Amino acid sequence: AAAAAEELENPTIAPVEVKLTKLLIDGEFVDAASGKTFPTIDPRSEQVIAHVAEGDVEDVNRAVRAARKAFDHGPWPKMPPFQRQRILLKYADLLDQHADELAALETMDSGKPYEQARYAELPLMSRQFRYFAGWADKIFGTTGPSDGIHAVQTLHEPIGVVGQIIPWNFPLVMYCWKVAPALAAGNTIVLKTAEQTPLSAILAGKLALEAGIPPGVLNIVSGYGPTAGASIAEHMDIDKVAFTGSTEVGKLVMAAAARSNLKPVTLELGGKSPMIICEDANVDEAVELAHFALFFNMGQCCCAGSRTFVHESIYDEFVEKSKARALKRVVGDPFRKGVEQGPQVDKDQFHKVLGYVESGMEQGANLITGGGRLGSKGYYIKPTIFTDVKEGMKIFDEEIFGPVQSIAKFKTLDEVVQRANNTVYGLAAGIFSNNINTVNTLSRALRAGTIWVNCFDVFDATIPFGGYKQSGIGREKGKYVLESYTQVKAVVTPLHNPAW
Ligand code: NAD
Repeated sequence: AAAAAEELENPTIAPVEVKLTKLLIDGEFVDAASGKTFPTIDPRSEQVIAHVAEGDVEDVNRAVRAARKAFDHGPWPKMPPFQRQRILLKYADLLDQHADELAALETMDSGKPYEQARYAELPLMSRQFRYFAGWADKIFGTTGPSDGIHAVQTLHEPIGVVGQIIPWNFPLVMYCWKVAPALAAGNTIVLKTAEQTPLSAILAGKLALEAGIPPGVLNIVSGYGPTAGASIAEHMDIDKVAFTGSTEVGKLVMAAAARSNLKPVTLELGGKSPMIICEDANVDEAVELAHFALFFNMGQCCCAGSRTFVHESIYDEFVEKSKARALKRVVGDPFRKGVEQGPQVDKDQFHKVLGYVESGMEQGANLITGGGRLGSKGYYIKPTIFTDVKEGMKIFDEEIFGPVQSIAKFKTLDEVVQRANNTVYGLAAGIFSNNINTVNTLSRALRAGTIWVNCFDVFDATIPFGGYKQSGIGREKGKYVLESYTQVKAVVTPLHNPAW
């Protein structure tokens, strides 16, 4: 059975002391202009961890002025790219050296298992900076044939001051997905962290200064969405905005960008990704993968495999084994060794997920395990599975963002393609099959930005990530993201002296 909540005492790895709580503006750690702070809460205990400077419009303005000065007059965009590369490589080393402390802050603030933060997520962070350090001196344009009497060259230039707004589910991973490519391309940044999880990015910001990233190049503002976040989206002196979060807020960001200075927008939004278990699947392996695809990070993944489609020939066995696996899932204090699932990030998410569980029961889905809170302290939810889930039920159609698996039965590939694509989202999809024809058919027919075949949640820096449909605009990671952080200038010169 899931580990009991009594085990929450006496974790094996101690949390760390919180030393940094201020805004990072122009290379200095400063209080909010208003002097205000907000509490960040430990989801294990529901207690305050620390009070953090609450950035608002005036702080975003200060950060933008610093970023503008660093872009227009500072060394960063004009520096020989190999020097930017060296600094980013040094930064990656510092992130590795401080991985224990960064991961501990991440676990305290978000509730994610320490082992997951330390050994699955922190390595992605330094890898991301090394990968984009590699790009720094390989971003360049072309010479074109033109009309025969003009020489044309294209320059790939940084966009300028970029605004970045990130969510709470992977605070450090989202930080590095956003910051690394923007810096490699020579931009300066005003980044807003999520109000639930401000702590780890502040330490990451301090390490950026130690690595030699000049003052004003990377500014980090903690604060709330409708204040600090909105002022980034509508700022007249921010040249581009990149947002990760809900589809609802993504639409607000895009509208604000259009209303203000028409800054280009990239969005990474919600999902309702299908995980398709085909007829030929080894059921034990399929159960494990589908379990991981949904329950990883407490189900708080934009790309979670949250609609598990199983072929009818193996459905009953799959359901039975999925239930056994969920019952074995180790839930408890995320600092404890071997824990697979900690609490949900905060009270709002906790109640939102429990609301979806209620709706599943009301709308006639079959609850086979879990279905409520675990323990009486902290935002823990039992690993939950519904079967016989159908279109029209909220748990099948809407993003739950919690440890709630919805399993549905299908008969034919045509049917499952139609049902898998029947959503406003298109972030990712999983396929489990060893039949190459099935894999080829499905991976081309599914309308999603990532197709994971016999794997899930693989996030190497080289792999582009982003959504079809209302899951977003643009791609993060890989070389594709560089298009979002550069703009093309055509330089045209006559080949002949015009006087000839
Ligand atoms: P959210 O959209 O409310 O918050 C995300 C970020 O946006 C936070 O930093 C928040 O402060 C900020 N924000 C909120 N209102 C804003 C506004 N009016 N203007 C500017 N910024 C604003 O998301 P949430 O509800 O906290 O998180 C869960 C959702 O995020 C889920 O729907 C999930 O799918 C999505 N998400 C997507 C991805 C992805 O990569 N596509 C990753 C993580 C989360």
